[in-house]
Amino acid sequence: MNKFEEFNTLLVQQVGAKTGSIAPSIVASAAFGYQDAQEAEAIFAGEAALPLYARMGNPTNAKLEAVAAAMEGGVGAIATASGMGALAMVMTAFLKQGDEVLCIGGFFGGTYALVNETMKRFGVKSHFCDADDFGKIEEILAEGVQMVLCESVGNPNLKLPNLGRIGILCREYQTLFVVDNTLTPLIVRPFEAEADIVIYSSTKIISGHSAALGGLAIFRGVGEGDEKLRGQKYQPLHPFIDKLQEKAMIGICKKRALRDLGMTANAFGSFLTLLGFETLALRVERINRSVELFAGELSALLPDGYTLRHPSLATHEHHSRYQELYPDGCGSILTLEAPDKESAFGLLDRLKLVTQTANVGDNRTLALHMSSTIYRDFDAKTRELLGVSDGLIRISIGLEDPRVLVQDFVQAVL
Ligand SMILES: *Cc1c(COP(=O)(O)O)cnc(C)c1O
Repeated sequence: MNKFEEFNTLLVQQVGAKTGSIAPSIVASAAFGYQDAQEAEAIFAGEAALPLYARMGNPTNAKLEAVAAAMEGGVGAIATASGMGALAMVMTAFLKQGDEVLCIGGFFGGTYALVNETMKRFGVKSHFCDADDFGKIEEILAEGVQMVLCESVGNPNLKLPNLGRIGILCREYQTLFVVDNTLTPLIVRPFEAEADIVIYSSTKIISGHSAALGGLAIFRGVGEGDEKLRGQKYQPLHPFIDKLQEKAMIGICKKRALRDLGMTANAFGSFLTLLGFETLALRVERINRSVELFAGELSALLPDGYTLRHPSLATHEHHSRYQELYPDGCGSILTLEAPDKESAFGLLDRLKLVTQTANVGDNRTLALHMSSTIYRDFDAKTRELLGVSDGLIRISIGLEDPRVLVQDFVQAVL
């Protein structure tokens, strides 16, 4: 079985139930009654695995969390209101004033703003390094940071960080390693690269239908001889380890973030996300095949002045890493660089099949001009760092016939 077949064979049945309602149940209650005072005490003490209050979790979210944890091979997961909610949860649960975060590779605009603006206001310092600048990465790690954050594929710069090498460094320097794997579920396995926490915006390819905003944080288990998490740097985690052992990271996120800040997923959103999970492997497999085909065909047909960027193309700086480590592709995104903003706008407005929107990983093919939208608030230097030029269009390939998409782009380029 390849990993897609494995997912379909072993996990799809878990999304619902085998008896009674086979579709996942939506438990819409905000509060849950306790049988008696003793049960209430046990639930609040974490000794009874029953719902406490929907901000701390609910049975529909729990179903989604179980499926997500099984997909990733984690010890558990927490469903959040959005991908940003998952990132904000992990950061606020683990970091405090004076702590530092090392961000490696390309970053989604919202994540960049969270780290560089919001967390900064609360006294958390951030460092940004290019994915391949291991000299600087190691120098910063040696000085001591509390968290390393990385996206599995740079969005929109499409750089492919060497997660395995970063994971080894995080072990050596005993630093929490968080990977945002939004673009590459089932394709990139961050726990195999020694990540501690895997983040998803489930709004994207996990749902696929654009009907539910959602996020997931999936946690590895804390082990007995866990030098990293039992070390000095993560002292606030230690009481949770004493109480919850391998599930300690779930405990700290629930108590320090969900309870106090409330970025919890809602039951209806989690239900819709579960429906996405049922067909995830099929969509990932198809879309990744289509991206390669689209990139290969369209790049050969573009006039001078237009550049298609995707790691499957020999012109991309991480082409050999792609060939070696990404046999199933690297997600739905590629970028098309037009000579300037006007030509990018003209091209976008002439496309007939494509939807212009800020989402990615959708069942439909989407496109968006970057610098006038998601990156409009960033200064020129930051845009350059993130790889956003004036003519840059981000494309996210959907389920359509990729050859027909190529024709649509060819007629739109003019
Ligand atoms: C969209 C996205 C996010 C944010 O997720 P939301 O669900 O929109 O809050 C975070 N990381 C990446 C890589 C994304 O593409």
